Amino acid sequence: MQAGFSVDELKKRLQNSKYKLTHQRQDVLEVFLDRSGEHLSAEEVHRILRDKDYDIGLATVYRTLELMCSPEMGILQKMEFGEKKARYELKKFEPNAHQHHHLICKKCDKVIEFSEDMLEELEEKIAKECNFKIIDHQVIFYGYCQECQ
Ligand SMILES: [Zn+2]
Ligand SMILES: [Zn+2]
Ligand SMILES: [Zn+2]
Repeated sequence: MQAGFSVDELKKRLQNSKYKLTHQRQDVLEVFLDRSGEHLSAEEVHRILRDKDYDIGLATVYRTLELMCSPEMGILQKMEFGEKKARYELKKFEPNAHQHHHLICKKCDKVIEFSEDMLEELEEKIAKECNFKIIDHQVIFYGYCQECQ
């Protein structure tokens, strides 16, 4: 489902920015490439790297994730999932590609993706009534998944 970033594509992309694909950044990136479509917290990324015997601190993981979300890098997308729990996922490769919508289970924290959009009409209305040029939107639905209902 996730149209792909590869390490090579990212290296190419980073050559044009002031950032380098350092070893640590590449390690963090590979966690996401190995788990495409997943939504990971900084703690989870940290734990996965520690399980692979990488010596990396949580603060470094956090800084790396934030940097990868910056407009300059634009590799990851950050979502605030309530109670200060941020999750990160790989962005789609195409610039300005619409990112899918998310359904979050309040009980088990499961994240379900929903890719149908149907918000074009609302965007048009907002653009007209507020004279606001919309470039993207994010929608999160909170509730209970099938198992938790
Ligand atoms: Zn659930
Ligand atoms: Zn997602
Ligand atoms: Zn949408």
